[in-house]
Amino acid sequence: MQDVAPKNTLNKKFFIKTFGCQMNKNDSFLMCKILTEHGFKMVDDPAYADIFIVNTCTVRDHAANRALAYTSGLKNWRKEGDRILAVVGCLAKSNADDITRKLNHVDLILGPDSYRVIGNYIAQIKEKKVRIIDTRLSGETYYGIYHSPTTVVDFVSIMRGCNNYCSYCIVPFVRGQARSRPFADICSEIANLVKHGVKDITLLGQNVNEYNHDNLDFAGLLERIARIPGAFRIRFLTSHPKDFSKETVQVIKNHHNICEWFHLPLQSGNDRVLQLMNRKYTREHYRTLVEYIRQEIPNATVTTDLIVGFPTETEEEFLETISMVEEIRFDYAYMYRYSRRTGTKASNIQSLDENTIKRRLSELIPIQNEITKEKTSEMIGREYEVLFESAARGKASRGKTRGNKDVIVQTQIKPGEVRNVVIKEVKGHTPIGELVDA
Ligand code: SF4
Repeated sequence: MQDVAPKNTLNKKFFIKTFGCQMNKNDSFLMCKILTEHGFKMVDDPAYADIFIVNTCTVRDHAANRALAYTSGLKNWRKEGDRILAVVGCLAKSNADDITRKLNHVDLILGPDSYRVIGNYIAQIKEKKVRIIDTRLSGETYYGIYHSPTTVVDFVSIMRGCNNYCSYCIVPFVRGQARSRPFADICSEIANLVKHGVKDITLLGQNVNEYNHDNLDFAGLLERIARIPGAFRIRFLTSHPKDFSKETVQVIKNHHNICEWFHLPLQSGNDRVLQLMNRKYTREHYRTLVEYIRQEIPNATVTTDLIVGFPTETEEEFLETISMVEEIRFDYAYMYRYSRRTGTKASNIQSLDENTIKRRLSELIPIQNEITKEKTSEMIGREYEVLFESAARGKASRGKTRGNKDVIVQTQIKPGEVRNVVIKEVKGHTPIGELVDA
């Protein structure tokens, strides 16, 4: 990246660097829309920007440190010309004091509820040369702001914030209490995306199963969304096993446009640890839920998140996580070591030593990876409905099954097309297929 841009290009141009989850990526699209409406223009090289926005994540120590180090490295960029550096998002909310004190080159610090006014703040900073910090939680849902899609796959936030206070998680502190968007607003955003060619929409929320607006629950919302006109697939992230209802499973079963992909974070396979995590379900509840899903929807894909080395987790308790992994046989799992977040309940409990946590993670990963490999191999010879998203290397195309698995075919296919594919082999971790109707 260059540090200096030709002077005449420095005019209301912004660049956004995004760390973290899909919700954060969606927030970056939201800011892009808000700034564009204020007459700003997004550029893809910071050398040509006079506003640099770092959208940060604090869900794990590693993500927070990366965002801080990245921002700290922007001193030289900030020195050139009349430039503005903004740090926004979850880390801006949780570490505003630190950023204010230690990173003097940051002009704007915004929490996740303050994006609506980002254009006004930038104008004030340009005009008055002041520093602005706004990390208030206001219950914002960004009603009526719909970003412009750039690909056939997109995301719609149906709610923001979280009330669950899982004891390891910083999200309720940085994103505030759960609030759901009205169906009419969600419906307008989806209709706008579909009108612009989007074919795969993932509904986003920290715990989508807690969606509730005017007595419309998540199952009811899904059902209504499934009836919105247009050919598009529906997915949702993230679910909470304590709130996942049988009604939701039935709605998915009864609507072909809702994909049968269930991302259900288990976190631990031990009841005492689950209780300490404040997850409010048991191993048995989780097992029964997955059994019900698989009984009703036999081709369901089930994926999960796992945390290893939660404070006080014993060796036997860790082995219970392994036994759940072996029993459930997840299609895929995101596996993390416990990361202490200041301010959470778990941060008051003595952490395990790092070597034990690392060793446990290194024992878990190959077990799940082997299961993932076996599950992927089971795809060989089977037919899948694949939505093609982009070109792949050579003259190939990449798409996703309804179960969210990447598939490659050696044919050029227009993004947005849905074709039936038979899987012929697995290369690395990727299933390679052929079109059924080629
Ligand atoms: S459900 Fe738990 S883990 Fe998920 S965002 Fe809320 S508090 Fe965090």
